[in-house]
Amino acid sequence: SGARVRRAHSKKLPQYQERGLDVKFSDVAGLGKIRLELEEVVKFFTHGEMYRRRGVKIPGGILLCGPPGVGKTLLAKAVAGEAGVNFFSISASQFVEIYVGVGASRVRALYSEAKENAPSVVFIDELDAVGRERGLIKGSGGQERDATLNQLLVCLDGFEGRGEVITIAATNRPDILDPALVRPGRFDRKIYIPKPGFVGRAEILKVHARKKPMAEDVDYMAVASMAVGMVGADLANIIEVAAINMMREGRSEITTDDLLQAAYIEERGTLEKKDRSIDMWKQLALNEASMAVVAVNFPDTKNIEFITISPRAGREMGYVRFKIDYVKFKEGLLSRQSLLDHITVQLAPRAADEIWYGEDKLSTIWAETADNARSAARSFVLGGLSEKHHGLSEFWVADRLNEIDVEALRILNMCYVRAKEILQKNRNLMDAMVNELIEKKNLTKQEFFHLVELHGCLEPLPPSI
Ligand code: ADP
Repeated sequence: SGARVRRAHSKKLPQYQERGLDVKFSDVAGLGKIRLELEEVVKFFTHGEMYRRRGVKIPGGILLCGPPGVGKTLLAKAVAGEAGVNFFSISASQFVEIYVGVGASRVRALYSEAKENAPSVVFIDELDAVGRERGLIKGSGGQERDATLNQLLVCLDGFEGRGEVITIAATNRPDILDPALVRPGRFDRKIYIPKPGFVGRAEILKVHARKKPMAEDVDYMAVASMAVGMVGADLANIIEVAAINMMREGRSEITTDDLLQAAYIEERGTLEKKDRSIDMWKQLALNEASMAVVAVNFPDTKNIEFITISPRAGREMGYVRFKIDYVKFKEGLLSRQSLLDHITVQLAPRAADEIWYGEDKLSTIWAETADNARSAARSFVLGGLSEKHHGLSEFWVADRLNEIDVEALRILNMCYVRAKEILQKNRNLMDAMVNELIEKKNLTKQEFFHLVELHGCLEPLPPSI
């Protein structure tokens, strides 16, 4: 009756509005000077009258340019949040429809909602989906898109200079936008948002840590230095994954280790997926497992953080990550024994191949690490560290070159025998690791040490070579 009639006549709820947003600039970290430019956009709303009185034109559109996940959407929301205005959003890929006229009518609907609820921010994500230069798309799809783009231009022009509806658009490809879009009065202001640097990454981590129970001594710098190439979205995820790890282990605080672990997992998650045969996975698993099993016996390589056989972009193999003492490493303070241990670790894949596949079925998967071992052994001898040749001077003579190689070979053989011994004593551990690696593609520090505890047989003392 009455109620039903009233409901039927009540105003339609805006379709494109996002309500209940409470994003502020303080939620967006690592922006540096870019923040000033966005603060000005806020002033277009809050001090619009002042701009108009002084004859300063308020832009109708702001273009945020940058790769995915750097915080473009978050920034647009923060502008609305700081200005205290409504926020309407759509992804331009939703404009692009096969039916002629649908995209254009969505644009009209979006802007009429924004206008009715002004002041407001209209946010268009992936602008390039519709704003690609005309003529680049052929056929009827192109026609539809032209109609949508034209409608968008009309809407942008309708608000020019008034400061009641400001459009913020995001794109990773400002270079391919239709020139009509970037004409004065439209998206004539471009703001580039790069991937965060080291300090930016640490700041972003801290912003996301605000609402989490962090241990007091968390080393954000260490995590930021691990997270090279990551953007805000990845860093936010690291905090979430670390929190899950904390919960799973029944602790009440997130530690640096949780974060480092999560960073490794995040890195792996961004890897391209690859199809591999089971044999290939097994070889890779054996390769990485052997290095970890040998490394865990030596003081300078025993802090294993992560083992993976997932392919990384640009890298075919997996890797074992040790926590090494970078200060010692950089300053050349590693001991003689420790250098030999490193060589032994590098020879582990070759030894594992021999043990598990046999001399006549050797692969070449260990070629890279064996190369590392060879050059390390040569440097070892050249540096006068081998027991036979103390002091450098006697090596700067050409006819000693052969001697150097012979001595390097002796070192390599000793290390090789040692790697083989360790692996043979740890066949059970190796088999368990290979199986788990094939199944899960990676082992966290905890998982690895759990297996070591179950099956491992560690070297009692570093034998002197
Ligand atoms: P884009 O629009 O550039 O693809 P988003 O704004 O959607 O990126 O970012 C996704 C999420 O990543 C955000 O909701 C936020 O949690 C996080 N994020 C990205 N950049 C930042 C940043 N600079 N500071 C804080 N958090 C960020």
